[in-house]
Order: sequence, then C-alpha cells, then structure tokens
Amino acid sequence: MQQTKTAIVWFTNNLRIHDNETLHKACVNYDRVIGIYCYDPSLFETTQFGFKKTGKFRQQFLEASVQDLKENLSRYNISLYTCYEHPHISLPKFCFSYKADALFFQKEFTTEEVDEVQRVKSKLPKEVKIYENYDQFLFHPDDIQYTIETIPEVFTVFRKRTEKYVKVRQEFLPIAKPKENYIIFKNTFEEERHLPRTESIDIPPHTAFPFEGGESSAIQRLQDYFFTTKKLSFYKKTRNGLLGTDYSSKFSSWLANGSISAKTIYWEVKRFEKEFGSNQSTYWMIFELIWRDYFKYLSLKHEANLFKLEGIKRTAYEWKTSEKLVAKWINGETDEPFVNANMVELKQTGWMSNRGRQNVASYLTKELLVDWRIGAAYFESMLIDYDVHSNYGNWQYVAGVGNDPRNRKFNIKLQAERYDTKGAYQSLWLQPTLF
Ligand SMILES: Cc1cc2nc3c(=O)[nH]c(=O)nc-3n(C[C@H](O)[C@H](O)[C@H](O)COP(=O)(O)OP(=O)(O)OC[C@H]3O[C@@H](n4cnc5c(N)ncnc54)[C@H](O)[C@@H]3O)c2cc1C
Repeated sequence: MQQTKTAIVWFTNNLRIHDNETLHKACVNYDRVIGIYCYDPSLFETTQFGFKKTGKFRQQFLEASVQDLKENLSRYNISLYTCYEHPHISLPKFCFSYKADALFFQKEFTTEEVDEVQRVKSKLPKEVKIYENYDQFLFHPDDIQYTIETIPEVFTVFRKRTEKYVKVRQEFLPIAKPKENYIIFKNTFEEERHLPRTESIDIPPHTAFPFEGGESSAIQRLQDYFFTTKKLSFYKKTRNGLLGTDYSSKFSSWLANGSISAKTIYWEVKRFEKEFGSNQSTYWMIFELIWRDYFKYLSLKHEANLFKLEGIKRTAYEWKTSEKLVAKWINGETDEPFVNANMVELKQTGWMSNRGRQNVASYLTKELLVDWRIGAAYFESMLIDYDVHSNYGNWQYVAGVGNDPRNRKFNIKLQAERYDTKGAYQSLWLQPTLF
C-alpha cells in the first residue's frame, strides 16, 4: 500500500487561499495538507525606540485575518492550527507530531524573517523537505530581467522596463482536499491562553479605514471599489484625498498580511478594463502596485541597509533623538495643524493617507531633523497596513537617505492649502468635541 505523504503549510504574510502558490503546490503534490500560523512573540515585543512592534490596531486586524483564513481553509477541508510561539519552536514539534514529509512557506528576505527561517531550518527533522516560494510580488523575481545587483536605484527606470517586458503570472487556484484531510486539533485551548489580549479599541465612526481583516473582506472591498461603485475609474483624481473611505483603494492592509495578492488585484483591473474600459485611473492602480513591488526589490537588493540610519544611499546627516520633539509629533502638538491632524488620525485609527504620510514624515525628518528610524518604528507599531519594505523604503525616500533622486522637502502649509483647501480634514481630527 502506498504511504500517505504529508505537507505542512506554514502561513506568514500570505493569509489567503486564492493565488497562494505555496498552498496550491502543497495541495497538488501531497496527499495530506495541514496549515499552521504562529503568532510570533517577537512581533509583540517593544523595540529599541520604545514602541510595541505590533500595536493594537494591527493585532486586531491580524487576528481577524487568521480567523477568516481558518474558516476559508476549512471549506477546502484543510485545518489551520494557530499558536502563540516562535516558529522555530512550534514548527519542528508540529512537523514531528504529524510526520510531515514537507514544509511549505513564503520566501522572505528581510533580516529578522531570514534569521527566524534559518532557526526553523536548523531545527527541523532532516527528512522534512523545504519548499520556499516568492509569493508577494506583482512581477515574479524570475521574470524581471534584472539580477538582484542590477535592480535600478530609480523607480521610473525599473517601472518602464518591467511594465513593458514582464508578464504578470496567472493566479493559483485553491484546491479542495478530501473530507478526511480535515482534522480537529486537541490542544487549541493553548492558543487562547497565550496570545496577548489587545487593549480595547474605540475607533471613531469617521475613520477612513472601517474595514475588517481577512481575505473575505479584501475581496468584498475589491468588488465594491471596482465593480459596484466603479470608483476605480476615478482613482487617479481622488487618490490624494484625505477624507472618507473611497479616495483610494485601501488595499494596503490586506496586501500587507497577504489576505489578497497584488496579482489578483492586477487581474481584476484587467477584467474591469475589458468590461468598462481602461483609462488613466485604471492604469494608475497598477502603477502604484509597481511602486509596492519596487520597494520590495530595493529591500531584496539592499538587505540590512533598509534599516540603517545612513540608508541605502549611505548618507550621513546630523539627526536628533529628542524625546520631547518625538512626543509632540506623535501627539499632534507641533506647530503645523496639518501634521497634527494626520498624527491624531493615526493615533485614533491606525490609518493615515499617503498624502498625510509624506507630509508627517517630511516634517519629522526635514523640519525637526529627527532620526527617521524613530518615525518608521512608530509607524510600524501603529499602521494597520504596516509592510516592512514599503514602510522602511518610503521613510528612507522621504528622509533623503533612500532612492528619491530629488530629495524633496514638503512645504506643509502649501500642501495643506492644496489638499485640504477648506480645512475640513483638519477640523475633523483636531476638534476635541467630535470624539
Ligand atoms: C512614510 C511612509 C510610510 C509608508 N508605510 C507604508 C506601509 O507600512 N505599508 C504600506 O502598504 N504602504 C506604506 N506607505 C505607502 C502608501 O502610503 C500606502 O501604501 C497607501 O497610502 C495605502 O493606501 P491605499 O491602499 O488606499 O493606496 P492606493 O492609493 O489605493 O494604492 C494601491 C496600492 O498601491 C500600493 N502603493 C501605493 N502607494 C505606495 C507607495 N508610496 N509605496 C508602496 N506602495 C504603494 C499599496 O500597496 C496600495 O495598497 C508609506 C508611505 C509613506 C510616505
């Protein structure tokens, strides 16, 4: 009799069943497939600048995303085990208990993630085969026509060549396993015991990001933004907005933890264009997804320099670290009301628009001259959509140590006049009586 072959799928920032290459390949090649997600305690620690790595807004979003994944997987007869433990501790035990033949996961390339993967590999039973896939890009690394060393330092150069020559790959479909594949874990109560509880969260009703975590709500949002309201057709005109849920797609939070893939969004834009026509706005959604890819490629190329003070440009400036200046910035008590409104929005909701992010980052680094890594670490803690590559890459870009060829400084007053002409955004977040 043939022996059953078992694969474990270790979910990280790929919390989805659609277009999940790792999951798909495990299901195609192995008889039995079991999922695991580890809430890594390292992600809940306080880091060198005094901020908790994962703050309450992202933790809540993450928990909802994992719960949704669990439910979606169960419809395909695949179980998901969750635990609050370092992967290098749980995975070897888990692989041993279920006599795994293979471990599948998404390939990562930032320092902490790579170190953890190394620890996992060193502790796994030797007979467990390892399959790692790049699964977070729009353009697959094997298709981009650059070697890692030759990836251009300027976005436009990268974009022009990739959008001309690189074909976005097709999506991977989820595959159902037979009913017997579904198992009920004996000790699930442990996960409840260990996961740190989030503080209670009262999000103001006027938040620009009232959405829940998980693939189901990501797909719902895409359906609404593209096909129900056709807001995609106007995206280029509205994307610099500040008020309400619809000035931009709000896909970033789901993209960040992989509840939706960039490829799925790309192919849905293409479907939309076929049905309703293409225009500058439909193109611009893809343009922005290429920005996201580009920051990932810069991170792949520059490795640990993504986190260093001198940045990928290796430029030394005099930086301040004054706690007083930082506290004023965080609490929205600077001399600039536009900066303050954005910082209050972030503190109360875990969200800030792209326009806001550029302004508050420019103000911190180019007016207050504060060490950009402090701003980046605060964003890391607070943002629901925190993504290591986009966050650190954008911070470097604005701070003048990254890949902005022009090294611009924002004129905050002019920006406020231009993007918040009537001051509606500032009154919304600066009026103490509203919330
Ligand atoms: C200082 C700073 C920090 C940032 N930190 C993050 C972060 O941690 N996570 C994150 O996803 N984005 C980050 N961004 C980029 C950008 O602000 C957000 O991606 C965007 O505001 C998310 O809103 P949206 O999904 O509605 O975007 P849309 O305008 O609808 O764009 C669609 C998608 O394109 C991508 N995108 C758009 N702009 C950028 C950009 N500048 N860089 C990279 N990708 C982009 C995102 O994936 C986004 O979801 C940061 C920008 C700055 C200036």
